[in-house]
Amino acid sequence: MHKDNIDTAMLAEAEAWRSRDLAVLWHPCTQMAEHPDTLPLVPIRRGRGVWLEGVDGRHYLDAVSSWWTNLFGHAEPRIAAAIARQAGELEHVIFAGFSHEPGLMLAEKLLALAPPGLARVFYADNGSAAVEVALKMSFHSFLNRGESRRKKFIALSNGYHGETLGALSMGDIPLYRRIYSPLLLQPLFAPSPDAYEAEPGESAEACALRRADELATIFARHEGEICALILEPLVQCAGGMRMYHPAYLHRAREICDAHGVHLIADEIAVGFGRTGTLFACEQAGITPDFLCLSKGLTGGFLPMSAVLTTAAVYEAFLDESRDRAFLHSHSYTGNPLGCAAALASLAIFETEPVLERNRATAARMAELAAPLREHSQVIDVRQTGMILAVEMAPGDRRGLRAYRHALGEGVLLRPLGDVLYWMPPYCIDEAALQHLAKTTLSAIIEAAR
Ligand SMILES: *Cc1c(COP(=O)(O)O)cnc(C)c1O
Repeated sequence: MHKDNIDTAMLAEAEAWRSRDLAVLWHPCTQMAEHPDTLPLVPIRRGRGVWLEGVDGRHYLDAVSSWWTNLFGHAEPRIAAAIARQAGELEHVIFAGFSHEPGLMLAEKLLALAPPGLARVFYADNGSAAVEVALKMSFHSFLNRGESRRKKFIALSNGYHGETLGALSMGDIPLYRRIYSPLLLQPLFAPSPDAYEAEPGESAEACALRRADELATIFARHEGEICALILEPLVQCAGGMRMYHPAYLHRAREICDAHGVHLIADEIAVGFGRTGTLFACEQAGITPDFLCLSKGLTGGFLPMSAVLTTAAVYEAFLDESRDRAFLHSHSYTGNPLGCAAALASLAIFETEPVLERNRATAARMAELAAPLREHSQVIDVRQTGMILAVEMAPGDRRGLRAYRHALGEGVLLRPLGDVLYWMPPYCIDEAALQHLAKTTLSAIIEAAR
């Protein structure tokens, strides 16, 4: 645990930083009018393990892995060193017509680790871009094969796939989507298999299978018109950490196969061990046609994403004609620093029993969260691996009150609406877990006032 070491000079520095920041910056996903009064802005000086250290000397436990990106702690020395080494050799090079060792090695490594049957890696530089790549590739591969009627996508209710217009189109969270809907593609939305929405007495598996039957009906109604089904395997994270049974994925794969439709698995948030397996798809024993990876790909160090796809998709683009090629690029495609960070992060999975250790940590999270169920304002506690969510009874700005209270206690808990969740770096220790559990309980009590 960390002792805060605050003096007046540090407090003054933090205050000066705050006012300079609010004079020029525009922060993401934020109503800036709420700064500085409703929402305090927290300038951070450094990070170590699960802890962030504020400019004012206070420490914050990063219970949300800085928007789900961090795996092994802040400033993890092996990843930091790999980036520094790479920066001294080759910081970046155009990836069209040129190649480099970290880019090649990372592709080989990802294909070796991913579910069997994926054969090609296309890099992009953030999660939303990876989703755009998968959508465009799916559509274009059908076009190249003469299936020009296929131009629709199916997405799940309560899903989230990013903020660029194509990715936002596939999402179903009104808070992000509603305003921009005149600009968006209109996918078909199939009901989420979310176990929280199960009928009374219905098991998670039965709910998943019922929803899969409804999915099959949509497929049948749009025969020959659909390119791909896009979904977040096992956990709809931005949608409030809603979780579902792997049987849905298994059935979804069968339904896609029966109709010649691609399955896009958006594992941007759940990949790299979050759900208990390296990739969430493993729990259903399926291989998607597109696997989108980002966030934890670089251990949380650098923006980078990868889309893994099959030989069949790749081969649909091979031709003399330029029109048949995938003429999509980002300036920083295949950035060597990102690749080096990803390789260093994946090396930790190989040299340490990460998934095994996470199982023990996840079991400890379950034990520590059990008492929260008793609180009258808690209506659900659910967990998939290293993601644990506490659904509070709905209340006006309850999440904001919980957030502010937790910050005061030195914990960064950033609720999704009325859902508090733990998605910590994997290196969280017993003392930090106990502090997290204690603060979560007091935040729930405070938020209910
Ligand atoms: C975060 C997220 C994205 C978008 O990634 P960005 O890097 O923020 O663009 C897409 N899909 C899922 C499931 C995510 O959680």
